[in-house]
Amino acid sequence: MATIALTNIGKLVTGDIKNPVSSANTIVVQDGKIAKIGNAEILKGFTLDKTVDVAGMTVTPGLIDSHVHTVLGDYTPRQKTQDYIEGAVHGGVTTFISAGECHTPGRPKDPAGTKALAILAHKSFNNLRSTGLKVHGGAVILEKGLVEADFDEMAKEGVWLVGEIGLGSVKKPEDAKPMVEWAKKRGMKVAMHCGGTSIPGSSTVTADDVMAVEPTVVSHINGGPTAIAPAEVEKLINNTELTLEIVQCGNPKIGDLVVRKLAEKDALHRVIFGNDSPSGTGIIPLGILRTMSLIASMSDIPGEKVVAMASGNTARVFGLDTGLIEEGKEADLVVMDAPMGSIGSDAMEALKVGDLPGVGMVIVDGAIKVTKSRNTPPTTRNYTIK
Ligand SMILES: [Zn+2]
Repeated sequence: MATIALTNIGKLVTGDIKNPVSSANTIVVQDGKIAKIGNAEILKGFTLDKTVDVAGMTVTPGLIDSHVHTVLGDYTPRQKTQDYIEGAVHGGVTTFISAGECHTPGRPKDPAGTKALAILAHKSFNNLRSTGLKVHGGAVILEKGLVEADFDEMAKEGVWLVGEIGLGSVKKPEDAKPMVEWAKKRGMKVAMHCGGTSIPGSSTVTADDVMAVEPTVVSHINGGPTAIAPAEVEKLINNTELTLEIVQCGNPKIGDLVVRKLAEKDALHRVIFGNDSPSGTGIIPLGILRTMSLIASMSDIPGEKVVAMASGNTARVFGLDTGLIEEGKEADLVVMDAPMGSIGSDAMEALKVGDLPGVGMVIVDGAIKVTKSRNTPPTTRNYTIK
């Protein structure tokens, strides 16, 4: 695989919420991984196939969408949309985490069918890389009748996600709790719907319900789209250490409350971002960038910490080897800048003033996948490739 250097980086945003900016200005990627980070001196140790001079633009980790209801392939029947995965890459997203394949036409709800769907979606997305994007698919939906041996079978076949609890027939905390324990015992990560009813067939879930089940992630803490009450949000912030997901399609006021309260507790590592597409507000190729812009512009939180909520935080919670610009990590990188015409002078300032950064280049596993976003405004500066 090619060895590529990114040079002349104006701001290197690491994805690490505790240490969100690096003083380095050069990155070398090799064999799909980040090989070296430093200054121009590091180039001497490599035979480069390509050098990308990013002209002072910002480089961030590839963004992670923690909440997508994938089906199979780069198609979603709910909104009858093709190539939405490719569209997301043009918005800087390089990883999707399935929250359950609930929109599969004729979705089976018996234990055997539920299990089969999770295994199929998991294995199918392992073989499908639309524009390079890594889909972690096959999040089992909890249905009544699943037994502990089913979790053994799914884990053996690679399934490691439990889709949003509340999508299936298992809704009551007392029904969900044993299944969540079986799943966690096998290293699975568990999402749980909270707040009002999202679409016909899902249910209303309170803070007490969530605390009784103890999922890995509280899905759409700001509602999908109807949020739980502010007091309920504060209960989850103060009485648990759970990861709280803010979604694009949710309630912006509650999203803002969540980050303000967590910032007061120095606990911004607990926030991750998702789209919850294609439910509700539909397919938003720039949904993660929009959520970043919303949170950065409405709060006092620096843009680089907001980037971490859409990258390193999510990778840590789900145990992924991406989301951080760190030597040895998967080389998933986004070159971004203030969009043409913004009053911000770089990508992070653009977020603070409420604009969406322009995406100039997206690299996935060390390969250049997007050379000019079809979805964002153009970047103010332009890179050159030698
Ligand atoms: Zn939900």
